[in-house]
Amino acid sequence: MKLILFGPPGAGKGTCAQLLSNKYFLEHISTGDMLRNAIQQGSELGLMAKEKMDKGELVPDNIVIGLIKEAITSEKCKSGYILDGFPRTIPQAESLDTLFQELGVKPDKVINMEIDTSVVIDRLSARRTCKQCGALFNLKRDKLTGNDCPKCGTKGSIFQRDDDKEETIKNRFKVYNEVTAPIKEYYKSKGLLIDVDSKGTPDEVFSRMVNTIEN
Ligand code: AMP
Repeated sequence: MKLILFGPPGAGKGTCAQLLSNKYFLEHISTGDMLRNAIQQGSELGLMAKEKMDKGELVPDNIVIGLIKEAITSEKCKSGYILDGFPRTIPQAESLDTLFQELGVKPDKVINMEIDTSVVIDRLSARRTCKQCGALFNLKRDKLTGNDCPKCGTKGSIFQRDDDKEETIKNRFKVYNEVTAPIKEYYKSKGLLIDVDSKGTPDEVFSRMVNTIEN
């Protein structure tokens, strides 16, 4: 199965992708995670990406398209994958189509996570991430003791992403509305887009998503 998870920042793409990946044994491919790894490694790509990400801007298309090509043609993606955070521009969606054509495959579903802006702004400012295992938490929902990760047990590994701070959040929404949202029409016109109401807890959203995938 090949899924594309689409939605504004804070819609819950990362959380749902993790849950779907566990349920259906799919590789979770997040361009945001790949870029954050490059930043942690201090590579040239990481330095360039950090400059863009800290401002809430997009990393250039050719860079993320290259990352995606490498990931989906790799051995571990053979039995299926979920794209989280890609495509984010029309040229990225077109390049993905070309790549799918070359590989002779099609996405099974493009899931549009529908959510009000006010809900996601709240979620983003309460979001915390584990540096070590990538687990996602919400300060309002999850009980965290200090900065220790309750999932992998690493001490002091919980942090707030720089791009989850207020000014950057505003710019991420501007970029989403101007550049990313038009992708909905692109996939709708191909008959691939399915809307999923993404209000509520991760379990509620996940169960709606499973219903959508299985029906
Ligand atoms: P995410 O973790 O998906 O919210 O992505 C965090 C940041 O990484 C975004 O705000 C962008 O700066 C960058 N990024 C992630 N995916 C892409 C993409 N497909 N195209 C361009 N930039 C991206």
